[in-house]
Amino acid sequence: MAKKIVIVGSGVAGVNAATKLVDNGYDGSSITIIDMGKDPYNRKPEEVMTGFLGAGGWSDGKLTYHTAIGGQLSKYVGEKKAMKLMDEVITNFKRFHPKPEEVQCSNPIEEPEFIKPYFGLRLFPVWHVGTDYLSEIAKNWYDYLVSKGVNFMWETKVTRINFNSQEVFTDERPYGDFNNKYDELIFAVGKSGIDFAQQLQDSYKLETEPKSVQIGVRFEAPQKHFQKLIDISYDFKLYRKFEDKGVSLRSFCTNNNAAYVAVEETYGDLSYNGHAKKDPKYLNGMTNFGILMEINGIDNPFEWSRNIVSKLQFGGKGLYYSPTRKPSKTSEGNEMNVHQINTLKEVGDIMGEYWDYIVDFITDMKTVFPTLSNDWGIYIPEVKYLSPEPLVYPRDLALVDFPNVHFVGDALSARGITVSGAQGILAVEKFVSPDEWDNIHGDMTHWG
Ligand SMILES: Cc1cc2nc3c(=O)[nH]c(=O)nc-3n(C[C@H](O)[C@H](O)[C@H](O)COP(=O)(O)OP(=O)(O)OC[C@H]3O[C@@H](n4cnc5c(N)ncnc54)[C@H](O)[C@@H]3O)c2cc1C
Repeated sequence: MAKKIVIVGSGVAGVNAATKLVDNGYDGSSITIIDMGKDPYNRKPEEVMTGFLGAGGWSDGKLTYHTAIGGQLSKYVGEKKAMKLMDEVITNFKRFHPKPEEVQCSNPIEEPEFIKPYFGLRLFPVWHVGTDYLSEIAKNWYDYLVSKGVNFMWETKVTRINFNSQEVFTDERPYGDFNNKYDELIFAVGKSGIDFAQQLQDSYKLETEPKSVQIGVRFEAPQKHFQKLIDISYDFKLYRKFEDKGVSLRSFCTNNNAAYVAVEETYGDLSYNGHAKKDPKYLNGMTNFGILMEINGIDNPFEWSRNIVSKLQFGGKGLYYSPTRKPSKTSEGNEMNVHQINTLKEVGDIMGEYWDYIVDFITDMKTVFPTLSNDWGIYIPEVKYLSPEPLVYPRDLALVDFPNVHFVGDALSARGITVSGAQGILAVEKFVSPDEWDNIHGDMTHWG
């Protein structure tokens, strides 16, 4: 009989894990996926963080295709295997896409001279799925998993997991006879479950690796100012590094043409991100991208970031500053949930010395893109909460102390769709061809 596999989180990682299993003949009825969000038929576009296909799989569709981008994968399995796993994720997105021929890859190869004195430019391939197709992809993908017998529990929050008795506990929901025992657990809660991941790490005293702070702003401006660079690299990544200060900055997740800023809510505070639509009716001629700082060497980076984010709120909203502009509307035509401020002084006081790096970044962009001038705005803050990464076996991402519990996706070390999906697949490979897997991995149960 197939082992009972419970997957917590139906985001990119959880869904790719389940797909790998049923594609290879695993009995779908032995798989249960629990998610606090909704299925793709009931999930609304503005429910950005929770539900089938998770965060980026619902609101954006840029599948980065490089092991240096989007978190760690080659560290576990090496370069070749990492690329193979990412290929599987991209194939899945194409396979459930209503128009797979529209999925395109951009692959810039040369850093242009005009940005060189001020910024570096990271060049890597990206597959563009198109935001507008994500909900259709999600429905097709969901129908496939249901047809294979996979059980789903929607709008159900997992509140406790007992790794010793192998039980999952949910909040009160009418799933009367849900057997909460598991043989194998895939923990794929993404960013919206990061506090839960932290709680488990604390209560089981899991061995972890500390992570850096990742904080900044979402920058928005008319696209025309950046067109010269967008023609070379659609999702351009400008970066600069201050090695001696332990600080680096990068532009992050660029959206063009029909580009909208998205609100994220974590721990009751608002922060900002962005997404792009593909349908021509959404064209707005805007560009937005994060300007994210990675800060190393801060004690308790997670608490530090949360504290800063909570101070950067006004009346339950994040902040917007522009020398000349007003906040844009959401893709649904609603007012953006943000409070406009007229000066950046208080932001500078809250962010301290780190704020200067952001200001310098924007100042230099004004030099490199001369028409930009004061025609821009920033949504404050943008943040990536990286909780300490639990120590896992590289071959299957199982916890060193609990080998039947696998941490995957943003809950582990990923920061992107492709890497998260790939980690989900890696975690379950051993269940689809156990003999082959044993031959490769033998008795290797520890790092190295
Ligand atoms: C607006 C936005 C745009 C993005 N755009 C891109 C992009 O273009 N390209 C890219 O590569 N990355 C992008 N990302 C990042 C990307 O979305 C994530 O890296 C990826 O979704 C992580 O996958 P995951 O499966 O680990 O988690 P998620 O996709 O976040 O899914 C986690 C799931 O777990 C569920 N969950 C959490 N806690 C619980 C609980 N206690 N009980 C039950 N269910 C729970 C949630 O409801 C959610 O559905 C974007 C993120 C956002 C927010």
